[in-house]
Amino acid sequence: MSSGLYLLVMVTIVGGGPAGLLCAKEAAYNGKKVVVYEEHEVIGEPVQCAGLVSKKGLDDLGVNYESTVLNKSLGARVYSPSGKEIEIKRKDAQAMVIDRAALDKVIAEEAMAEGAEIKTGVRLLERGADLTVGADGASSYIAKDLGNKKDLLIAYQVTAKLERDLDFVELHFGSWSKDFFAWVIPESEQHCRVGIAIKGDPKKALMGFMKEKNIKADLEKGIAGLIPLFSDNPTVFEKERTLLVGDAAGQVKATTGGGIAIGGFCGRIAGEIIGKDLPLTDYEVIWRREVRKELVLHRQLHDFLVSLTLEEMDELFQLAIEERVPELIEEYGDMDKPSMLFKQLMAKPRVVSHMMKYLSRLPVSF
Ligand SMILES: Cc1cc2nc3c(=O)[nH]c(=O)nc-3n(C[C@H](O)[C@H](O)[C@H](O)COP(=O)(O)OP(=O)(O)OC[C@H]3O[C@@H](n4cnc5c(N)ncnc54)[C@H](O)[C@@H]3O)c2cc1C
Repeated sequence: MSSGLYLLVMVTIVGGGPAGLLCAKEAAYNGKKVVVYEEHEVIGEPVQCAGLVSKKGLDDLGVNYESTVLNKSLGARVYSPSGKEIEIKRKDAQAMVIDRAALDKVIAEEAMAEGAEIKTGVRLLERGADLTVGADGASSYIAKDLGNKKDLLIAYQVTAKLERDLDFVELHFGSWSKDFFAWVIPESEQHCRVGIAIKGDPKKALMGFMKEKNIKADLEKGIAGLIPLFSDNPTVFEKERTLLVGDAAGQVKATTGGGIAIGGFCGRIAGEIIGKDLPLTDYEVIWRREVRKELVLHRQLHDFLVSLTLEEMDELFQLAIEERVPELIEEYGDMDKPSMLFKQLMAKPRVVSHMMKYLSRLPVSF
């Protein structure tokens, strides 16, 4: 308990995305002088996000996000490489399709209302005198300074004029990307966000997916961005000087690439610890206790899925259909926390015996 911040005067936050802004809001609320530096002129822009966030995850951010919701999703339709469909649906909204730029702006306003200062159009390349929070996203220079190496996917997304069932998001596994999946997320009755992530050329991958699904959109008007895959043991804390939050810390679900809810939540934890002058080592303890186990499981599931051939993935879909896994997901599934569902799956003898086939590829915790 030696690293209290009792003499802390100024908190420098590098990066004005959800994680940095939520950290700023909490620290300022608890009385700290906070300055957020954002390299872009306008908070939230340019958007590099599909904007799908679990309702629970958004609720946990403690933000007035309602005005940013464009669509509410009741579930997902997931497609195997050969087109087998698994439908997961609940009665209530499970996820929100948000206007991401608007969400970041709402959080920025809430942080400023608590007294945080936000300086836009400033690319900061040095750490502050007292405490620096690295919230500088997937290509964080502060994370590199701390010795973290990132395993990155590159994502590309377009907006297509496309009518889809507003209640469902679609995930498509297939040959276009061996590293991830393609998504179709309805944002309105006429428009969907269509994207893909891969370790190679995402635009080419998306072109292949759209061609096969007969989806038309101007590929040149897309957005690209990086998705860090969670590494088991990132350094997110250095002495009394530096913390990492959000994508900079790799706090992203490797199965879906989602980082708004979990990274934002970790930003809140960091902000509260800083604001209350608690030992910074508490951040390590609390974020690990709250989210690390689930992030590790997301990563293990991602690595397992990536190891499958297209045929093996089809077989697993067939098994899931026969074993009524969608019903299990409806009961136990949580977009952010897969461990509960996982336990239920491992209680199904046929699933376990099928998984034996992949024993050498399964991580120890399976
Ligand atoms: C195409 C795509 C789709 C995605 N879809 C989803 C989704 O549907 N749901 C979901 O939950 N997540 C999604 N994500 C991930 C999500 O966008 C990130 O996890 C989230 O933005 C992380 O928030 P953050 O605050 O950690 O980082 P960011 O939002 O990346 O914010 C970091 C900020 O730091 C700024 N910055 C960087 N360096 C400096 C510097 N030196 N000085 C000043 N400013 C700096 C950047 O300009 C940026 O604004 C997606 C990502 C991509 C690429």
